[in-house]
Amino acid sequence: ECSQPNVKKSLGVGAARRNINNKFVVPVSRPTKEDEMALDEKPTDVLAAVKPEEKKYEGLNFEKDLCASLERDIVQKNPNVHWTDIAGCMIAKNLLNEAVIFPLLMPEFFKGIRRPWKGVMLFGPPGTGKTMLAKAVATECNTTFFNVASSSLTSKYHGESEKLVRCLFELAKLYAPSTVFIDEIDSLCSRRGTSNEDEVSRRVKSELLVQMDGVAGALGGDDSSKMVMVLGATNHPWDIDDALRRRLEKRIYIPLPDIETRKQLLEINLNDVQLDEDVNLDLLAEQLEGYSGSDITNVCRDAAMMNMRRITLNLSMAQVHNISREMKEQFNTPTKMTDFLNAISKVSSSVSKDALAKYEQWMKEYGSA
Ligand code: ADP
Repeated sequence: ECSQPNVKKSLGVGAARRNINNKFVVPVSRPTKEDEMALDEKPTDVLAAVKPEEKKYEGLNFEKDLCASLERDIVQKNPNVHWTDIAGCMIAKNLLNEAVIFPLLMPEFFKGIRRPWKGVMLFGPPGTGKTMLAKAVATECNTTFFNVASSSLTSKYHGESEKLVRCLFELAKLYAPSTVFIDEIDSLCSRRGTSNEDEVSRRVKSELLVQMDGVAGALGGDDSSKMVMVLGATNHPWDIDDALRRRLEKRIYIPLPDIETRKQLLEINLNDVQLDEDVNLDLLAEQLEGYSGSDITNVCRDAAMMNMRRITLNLSMAQVHNISREMKEQFNTPTKMTDFLNAISKVSSSVSKDALAKYEQWMKEYGSA
């Protein structure tokens, strides 16, 4: 884990910074704890508050409006997800430490043959924590986090997609060190329809490859403050274009949770839920075999609602409006084992055995151990 050294802050808070074109940029003040909390989880205009607007995109070859709209959609100052919030995934955490976090913290070591990977791919079934892992990487290193849904780059609303890809990387360099996380990267760079793919997706694909090669140049240099790390996530690794797969050199499998991880997930989710004495988390963890992290969250949510459901089941809307405090207090009576078993029977696992076999096979062929 890397919690102490703060790459961005080591630039020297209060000292003048320079942007990618070596132009003067107004110093950025260290945010207070309260600022950080207020910014949590909100896409935010990181430097707008402290940089005069006209200087902000100085040196970028894009319309201010385009940069501003992209920034609004995808820049997150502090995703505030820590390694300890993520159950299991030990292999993935170790690989991400080595592939992304250590190179940012110790650039002098990651040179020559040890140069950082050009890009990292997280693949596996949906709801297993890929997005959480990417956010934790950004949090633990205090890099600016670009949370890119592929759909936000292909949206007609924003205009030409390849221009957006270029603008995204320009912004990432401006705010470096940055982590660019592209979710569902297969839909941006798919091998499907290579014979008759339309001109637009062909241009987007090649722009993404060009930009990734561009930022890879800064990896393995002395100055980690210029680094832009690219992380892609996909539930369909077999659909990814070969050229992109080659650039996503480190390919990390995020499997369904094992029994230990399922127990941890139950504990994380039920942190603030009162449990009846009859609740046996070991037994529940066994029963949840085949469920993803997000399936388990849904089971817990459903079970924790059972008391409220039982009480409100036969009430009219008017009675719900006037529900007494005593009745509401009963919502919080401990959740029972039967509530969980009931919830498990209603929420089914979202990944099939066939799909799992396909991931394992792809892992064997292309994954990083
Ligand atoms: P993915 O990106 O793999 O589709 P996410 O990271 O978005 O999945 O996870 C979806 C939700 O599932 C999270 O918000 C969290 O509630 C839960 N979750 C999944 N995996 C984990 C995990 N390993 N630890 C804690 N929560 C998890």
